[in-house]
Amino acid sequence: MNYILVSACLLGQACRYDGKCKRYEDMDALMERDDITLIPICPEQAGGLSTPRNPAERVGDNVMTNKGDDVTAQYRKGAEEALRLCRLYHCKTAILKGKSPSCGYGAIYDGTFTRTLVKGNGVTAELLEKEGIGIISMD
Ligand code: SF4
Repeated sequence: MNYILVSACLLGQACRYDGKCKRYEDMDALMERDDITLIPICPEQAGGLSTPRNPAERVGDNVMTNKGDDVTAQYRKGAEEALRLCRLYHCKTAILKGKSPSCGYGAIYDGTFTRTLVKGNGVTAELLEKEGIGIISMD
C-alpha cells in the first residue's frame, strides 16, 4: 500500500480560510485505487487555527494575516504535524493545494494581499520537501 499525504481541502473538506473547500475531482480516481491510501490533513487547522480565519501570506520566514497578526508559530506547528503523519505512514509523496501559505509549492502570494504570485513554497511544503517528500502541486 502506498500512503500519500493530501491537502484536506482537495478532498472536499471545508477547511479553507473562508470556510470553503477546493475539491478536485481528479482526486476521485486516486481514492478509488486499491493500492493507494490518501492521508488528509489541513496544516492550518492542525496548527491550531480556526475555520474560518483571516487570510494569511508568507512574509519572508514569517506568516502574517491581513490584520497584521503573526501566525508563524501555528503554521510551523501545522507543518510539523504534516511531517509527523508522513513519517507515521511512510509517505514518500504529498499532493498539496497550490498557492497556499502552507501547502503552496513553487509559487505563493507575496505577502501584500494583492494576489501577486512569487516563487516560493508554503511552510508545510517547504518542510516536507526538506525532509525528502516528493510534492505534487494542485493549482
Ligand atoms: Fe487546504 Fe492546505 Fe489551506 Fe488547509 S492549509 S485549507 S489543506 S491549502
